[in-house]
Amino acid sequence: LSQRLSVLDSPDEIGRLAGTFNDMIGRLDASFRQIRQFTSDASHELRTPLTVMKGETELVLRRPRPLEDYQTVLESNLEEIDRMTHIVDELLFLSRADMGEVKMESLPVALESLVEDIYRQATLLGQDRNVEVVLGTVMPAVVQGDELRLRELLLNLVENAVKYSHPGGKVEVSLLNDGQQARLSVTDHGIGIAKDDHKRIFDRFFRTDEARAHTKKGTGLGLAICAWIAESHKGRVEVQSDVGQGSTFTVVLPLSRPPA
Ligand code: ADP
Repeated sequence: LSQRLSVLDSPDEIGRLAGTFNDMIGRLDASFRQIRQFTSDASHELRTPLTVMKGETELVLRRPRPLEDYQTVLESNLEEIDRMTHIVDELLFLSRADMGEVKMESLPVALESLVEDIYRQATLLGQDRNVEVVLGTVMPAVVQGDELRLRELLLNLVENAVKYSHPGGKVEVSLLNDGQQARLSVTDHGIGIAKDDHKRIFDRFFRTDEARAHTKKGTGLGLAICAWIAESHKGRVEVQSDVGQGSTFTVVLPLSRPPA
């Protein structure tokens, strides 16, 4: 795909057509590169748990062992299977989204009750990791959309905030309404994200070095899904963060307009 039309600086129609054509080829080229990268990343992410499972299983089968050893390996294998299942579920969702096959409701959703539900769920999540989850300002805000997807989006951000916090840390969830937009924010004081990585964290499979060092748990697919859900609601996900300083993720959504 590296062929380009060479109509050098031709000012006429043909020149302009050649320019448009070359531009299209360039974009196709970039898309193919992305697909190749994605396939390679996906294979790698699935290969890693398989390698772990194979290694442990072979080791324990090499000679007779006490029953507990088999139990330990089976438990570890189960963890890896759960990890692979999670990756495959997220990949399936993204590929259905790419093909336009994800059905989205378009109903009024009261974000404040969603925030309160998620807060209760998050409190339990936080307890497991000694992270305190608190509610900040919560204003009423109604948006048009799919409650289950929005719930998934918010839960994903809260799970990340807890996961990337330090023990004893605090996570705050808030909801503001400025009359035009709803702003759902999740703030943590955890490992943070370098400015250079802010764009890339929404790429499929991208995980920062800090995140990899902090925990093995994570697929690098959650934020790609969050961004897709926000965009399907004509909204976006913003990030403010710095390494070692913690992060704030904000979902900005247009408010539902009552019929005139
Ligand atoms: P993961 O499953 O790895 O958490 P995500 O797609 O949810 O994947 O996030 C992508 C990457 O963005 C993470 O691996 C991490 O590097 C970074 N990230 C996301 N949320 C946070 C956060 N609250 N604090 C620090 N880093 C974060």
